[in-house]
Amino acid sequence: MHTPEDLEVIRNLLKLIGEDPDREGLRETPARFLKALAEYTSGYQQKPEEVLKVFEDGAQSVDEMVIVRDIPVYSLCEHHLAPFFGRAHIGYVPDKRILGLSKISRLVEVFSRRLQVQERLTNQIADALATHLMPLGVAVVIECRHMCMESRGVRHSGATTATSALRGSIKTNPDTRREFLSLIGH
Ligand SMILES: [Zn+2]
Repeated sequence: MHTPEDLEVIRNLLKLIGEDPDREGLRETPARFLKALAEYTSGYQQKPEEVLKVFEDGAQSVDEMVIVRDIPVYSLCEHHLAPFFGRAHIGYVPDKRILGLSKISRLVEVFSRRLQVQERLTNQIADALATHLMPLGVAVVIECRHMCMESRGVRHSGATTATSALRGSIKTNPDTRREFLSLIGH
């Protein structure tokens, strides 16, 4: 699966930090690390339109806001390759089409399992929903802890970064926006 050259890159990385890649505990680490990295970045292999091409039946009568709270987010910051992780809350006002809940989680993974910044991640999820689901309105709120901020530099331990992206009626209609924010507990 991994070429000897691939493994050598990670062995060199271990040497760079002062480790001995031949010591017992690290012998399998380059292969394990590459496997984990492939999973952390598997979003590059997926397209949002693939995830969003199948809609649930029987949505013709649905015009109430749909909310999915507390979707797990695991990503890597593109500046430090450090994990950032937390929760996404997504709402939309359907226009005849609704998505299965698992599709929404998968959409979050398509964009979070890449090198990211939280603001772009938030906007990409909102734009993909707006483009492919074509609802009347979309809202995405993401709250994450960033290891690059917490474990180095200024060390704001436990601080959460919140970002939001609003589209359509949830952006333009204050009542709809208030409904979304209260439903996600803000
Ligand atoms: Zn960072």
